Amino acid sequence: MSQFDVVVIGAGPGGYVAAIRAAELGFKTACIDAGLNKKGDAPALGGTCLNVGCIPSKALLQTSENYHAAETEFAEHGIEVKVKKFDAKKMIERKDAIVSKLTNGIGFLFKKDKVESIFGRGSLQGQKDGLWQIEVEANGAKQTVSAKHVIVATGSSPRPLPLIEIDNDKVLDNEGALNLEEVPGKLGMIGSGVIGLEMGSVWNRLGAEVTILEAMPTFLAAVDQQVAKEAFKIFTKEQNLNIHLGVTINAIEKTKNHVNVKYTLNGEEKSDSFDKLIIAIGRIPNTNGLNAEGVGLQKDERGFIVVDEECRTNLPNVWAIGDVVRGPMLAHKASAEGVAVAERIAGQKPFVNMSTIPAAMYTHPEIAWVGQTEEQLKAAGVKYKKGQSSFAANGRALGMGQGKGFVKILADAETDRVLGVHIIGPVASELISEAVMAMEFKASSEDIRRIIHGHPTLSEAVHEAACSIK
Ligand SMILES: Cc1cc2nc3c(=O)[nH]c(=O)nc-3n(C[C@H](O)[C@H](O)[C@H](O)COP(=O)(O)OP(=O)(O)OC[C@H]3O[C@@H](n4cnc5c(N)ncnc54)[C@H](O)[C@@H]3O)c2cc1C
Repeated sequence: MSQFDVVVIGAGPGGYVAAIRAAELGFKTACIDAGLNKKGDAPALGGTCLNVGCIPSKALLQTSENYHAAETEFAEHGIEVKVKKFDAKKMIERKDAIVSKLTNGIGFLFKKDKVESIFGRGSLQGQKDGLWQIEVEANGAKQTVSAKHVIVATGSSPRPLPLIEIDNDKVLDNEGALNLEEVPGKLGMIGSGVIGLEMGSVWNRLGAEVTILEAMPTFLAAVDQQVAKEAFKIFTKEQNLNIHLGVTINAIEKTKNHVNVKYTLNGEEKSDSFDKLIIAIGRIPNTNGLNAEGVGLQKDERGFIVVDEECRTNLPNVWAIGDVVRGPMLAHKASAEGVAVAERIAGQKPFVNMSTIPAAMYTHPEIAWVGQTEEQLKAAGVKYKKGQSSFAANGRALGMGQGKGFVKILADAETDRVLGVHIIGPVASELISEAVMAMEFKASSEDIRRIIHGHPTLSEAVHEAACSIK
């Protein structure tokens, strides 16, 4: 039986990063993962993020953005092109090649850092002589490995909708939505969260008529509402996404060629027929098959593994990180927790600052934020001041033809410390890093104002927002 210092279960951005950091710190480390490639015929490391999440979605968003720019934006630059053909199959092949490159890259890193990669489904079997026994099952065969420390990084899966089963033919989850080889004429989407809006944007830009049905009455409830309102206006009025809020789905039925959805909107019974329907109503933690109950691993009422602020579970030397525990379901949060846990095992004292984790939505324009929203500050009774700058007044943005959106900085009314930054606009996902850095160093808005920003750059909008705080 193989014995390790650290065994990580799951090789997503939480698990593979934790395993590599543990190995770097001198621990004999193994990483168990059950993920398969798209064909289902070979192991694929990287978890949701690399295989069916962050990376493939951004690849498709870029293709669709290029297509849309060629169709609708080039003319204003004096470039007249006629797109002869759009080849969705080629777009998917390009995306698959990027995914393969990155997932293979993790295998290479594991070899380089001497992390033993074990394919199969891992489950906890209890402790023997102070070592955790982990059974690994693959293709009907079982082996047991042991380790002093176990890091559970099993991630999350799409939340199912009880009314209909995902078949990834007509009714799709994120995996199916990332693999359509033809642009659907009419695309339905249940859920208007980040994943739904990104997927909706891809197929909308490529010509699908997209209808999004959302149960919540508020659009992007977790996002600063000034940003959410601006986004709603742009998505519905300029990009023609049909977004219905406060919807109750009553029935979904598949016919030979369509998916019919019956729903209630503003008290009225409605129905719509789609070529494809994407279900994007959130994600649930993966704990099935871990034998959590068998070993007494504590979960909360929503199925997340309960951890303290240092990712310790209720079991000795069993840690849990990433989507399977509380906090935002984001790849960089999972990785930060993975690094921190490996370092804690090594006796170091790392700190993951949950209040400065950036979030981004790669729609057009992009949306990104860090820290608190105006709504959260008001609810907490915090007195704040606000500065705002529009991309319509930013030379670089205008040159790029992307003068929509704004940067908003919220700072404490007394101390001027930056409490939140909210951006809707070009490459907001990159611009937010400056705000994260500022907040991590406990900067004031005056600090941002006094930092010299290059000209002409999009980051001047961040500077201008700080300058406008009085
Ligand atoms: C469409 C989409 C787009 C996204 N875009 C972004 C984005 O732009 N930015 C961002 O930050 N986040 C994004 N996310 C979220 C991001 O993918 C997750 O937050 C991230 O992957 C979580 O990492 P993780 O390591 O916790 O788990 P995962 O990436 O889910 O990896 C868990 C791994 O564990 C394996 N596993 C599960 N159970 C077992 C077991 N018992 N034994 C062995 N292996 C097991 C799984 O097969 C998987 O390989 C997106 C998600 C989706 C679906």
